[in-house]
Amino acid sequence: LMARGAPYLNDLNPAQRAAVEQLDGPVLMLAGAGTGKTKALTARIVHLLNTGRAQPNEILAVTFTNKAAREMKERVARLLGQSVEGMPWLGTFHSICVKILRRHAELVGLKSNFTILDTDDQLRLLKQLVQAAGIDDKRWPARMLVGIIDGWKNRAWLPENLPAAEGSAYDGMGPQLYAQYQTRLRELNAADFGDLLLHVVSIFQKHDDVLALYQRWFKYVLVDEYQDTNVAQYLWLRLLAGGHKNICCVGDDDQSIYGWRGAEVGNILRFEKDFPGAAVVRLEQNYRSTPHILAAAAGVIAGNENRLGKELWTEVEEGEKVRLIGHWDGEEEARWIGEEAEALQRGTRGIGPKSLDDMAILVRASHQMRAFEDRFLTIGMPYRVIGGPRFYERLEIRDAMAYFRLVVSPEDDLAFERVVNTPKRGLGDKAQQKIQMEARANFLPLTGGAQLLLDAKGIGGKGAGELQRFLDNLQRWQRLEASPEVSHVELAEIILDESGYTEMWQNDKTPEAPGRLENLKELVKALEQFENLQGFLEHVGLIMDNDKTDADEKISIMTLHAAKGLEFPVVFLPGWEDGLFPSQRSMDESGQKGLEEERRLAYVGITRAEEICTISFAGNRRVYGQWQSQMPSRFIDELPEAHVDVMTPPGLYGGGFGAAQPSVRSNLAESAAEADVYNSPGWKRMQARASQRPTPKAQGGAAYIVEATAVSSFMQGDRVFHTKFGYGDVIGVEGDKLEINFDKAGVKKVVARFIVSAAD
Ligand code: ATP
Ligand code: MG
Repeated sequence: LMARGAPYLNDLNPAQRAAVEQLDGPVLMLAGAGTGKTKALTARIVHLLNTGRAQPNEILAVTFTNKAAREMKERVARLLGQSVEGMPWLGTFHSICVKILRRHAELVGLKSNFTILDTDDQLRLLKQLVQAAGIDDKRWPARMLVGIIDGWKNRAWLPENLPAAEGSAYDGMGPQLYAQYQTRLRELNAADFGDLLLHVVSIFQKHDDVLALYQRWFKYVLVDEYQDTNVAQYLWLRLLAGGHKNICCVGDDDQSIYGWRGAEVGNILRFEKDFPGAAVVRLEQNYRSTPHILAAAAGVIAGNENRLGKELWTEVEEGEKVRLIGHWDGEEEARWIGEEAEALQRGTRGIGPKSLDDMAILVRASHQMRAFEDRFLTIGMPYRVIGGPRFYERLEIRDAMAYFRLVVSPEDDLAFERVVNTPKRGLGDKAQQKIQMEARANFLPLTGGAQLLLDAKGIGGKGAGELQRFLDNLQRWQRLEASPEVSHVELAEIILDESGYTEMWQNDKTPEAPGRLENLKELVKALEQFENLQGFLEHVGLIMDNDKTDADEKISIMTLHAAKGLEFPVVFLPGWEDGLFPSQRSMDESGQKGLEEERRLAYVGITRAEEICTISFAGNRRVYGQWQSQMPSRFIDELPEAHVDVMTPPGLYGGGFGAAQPSVRSNLAESAAEADVYNSPGWKRMQARASQRPTPKAQGGAAYIVEATAVSSFMQGDRVFHTKFGYGDVIGVEGDKLEINFDKAGVKKVVARFIVSAAD
């Protein structure tokens, strides 16, 4: 009763309060974004503690990310007015399962000090097993098996209860390999990530006494983001809550975005069957977003057929419409968002001033981050990347950069160490040690030491030949670097190809590999803005430094997936283009499943915004030196016109922010502004000439980069622009090379691919 007047209860609306005060029995809170689910869940924990229903260590509270767990602990402490001593069971599924499994490891044949394998270890192990089974590794690569086994584990299938239909992979050996893999893990006293949950579930299923212990112990169970639980997590929860049946799950079927990782939105729909008599609380008031933002999100998600459907309303004041803006290309988009963020920060947009902390850029694919990171460095805007490494810290980027560094400075030993055996060149630890010793003894960098060692036949076997080839390549790349005939962008592609680095990832079948290849393309793209490799490497050095500057305010960059549950006053949603968002994969799939998940992702994105939400797309994106024209996202079509302002980007339609235009993609095509872009003779001509794309770098705005295949389009006398040498006149054409008399640089032979026609 003392709790009646507690502020944490008075802060809630009646529906939330009911969910908080209904302490006993199962409760399902099923509600849209920003309706205060997480807030109510937190208040419920406080209420349990305040009313003495449970001690802190008797509450099991599951969140989706460690960040969310941390925030929830802080919020509980704040509401309690004291720090929470020991809420050991507030965390992610995995962190909680590790704790349980360590206590009962022997029941699944492990010791309590078992190690947790990462994906690399997992792969190595499976490779050995696939090989030993005499299976054609090309047809059935071990990498694929990693994904298959993870999927089985997400569904809580042990080798012994794998459905028969799952048996066809790996020449019917899949289930056998899975069983061998589990045995091997046991022998190694190791568990992979999926095991953490799976082992605990099977312990609970086989040992009633252990299950009973935890069922008694956890008096209350709470789960946030319930829509994203997979089968194993679901079973785990159902077992644990089976005793007291005090389980409270909150979620939103419209925000289920982990189907690709085995999450089953059906779990949320099944709750009332699993827990008969469950109180179902629906929340409809959104406290986060303006009516326009909410309506835009509702308009998009309405396109999904498989949903429960719910209406949201808000008392938040009107505010701005969702803004939609098209840009020439991705760099332009990043530039514009940087300027917009600055204007908001200064308060010159008529809103604000806003802190950078209040702003977030939410991207569909992590490679989109690069353009923003580069731009923000250039203008000195502090930023943070949430939920993953920053672009230039990614493994494949650091590898590629190490190659570039070696070319620019052959004495860069750290770079040498990083790439000498990446991709594999048969140079193991022993060979590398020899190189180290040889170099040290002769006061040479490792490149020099390696050559000496080779000359002295100090290295044998396959490694010797490969090492010589590597050193020869390095020297050739260095010569190319110094030569005016090859641009540094071309050189970068040459290095990545000839070193075998790109190929290494092309042959890689892990789920991350396509993303890494995308990132490499993005890296080559980034080079274009610099004069040479050296300048680029300096730029990246600065980026890394920027990481250390402890600016007070930072703008956040993250993927849409990482943004779940978060909120920001200002949200930018770039890259709304078919093939990027929705992803190409989801569009290629038959059926609507993938597309519906993408649409939920769009819903998650829009509903992160409190006051200002800006959606943008680029008309062109450059992929590996090729311009591709992009189609605005089909989701743009689904934005309700009444809640969207179509803005006129400065570079595209000839300046300034126009007044509101009649909205969205299809109408855009008819409106004057749209006609300018998509129906203009220029646009059509551009699309017709598949090999000729507009370049953002071109001065004068009307130049075209021409691919090597389109060489013939150049003739003697053409006026051209080269990214490195500036303007000039073509005086000769020779295969894929052009002889050009540059205004400043004189006569040079250059590869046509990096030439721009200034004539158009
Ligand atoms: P999501 O589905 O995105 O996870 P959610 O339903 O968990 O959203 P919360 O993050 O809990 O929503 O709340 C959204 C915002 O609304 C927060 O800033 C929260 O403080 C505020 N809020 C929630 N309920 C109330 C209320 N009753 N009164 C005032 N503000 C509220
Ligand atoms: Mg939430």
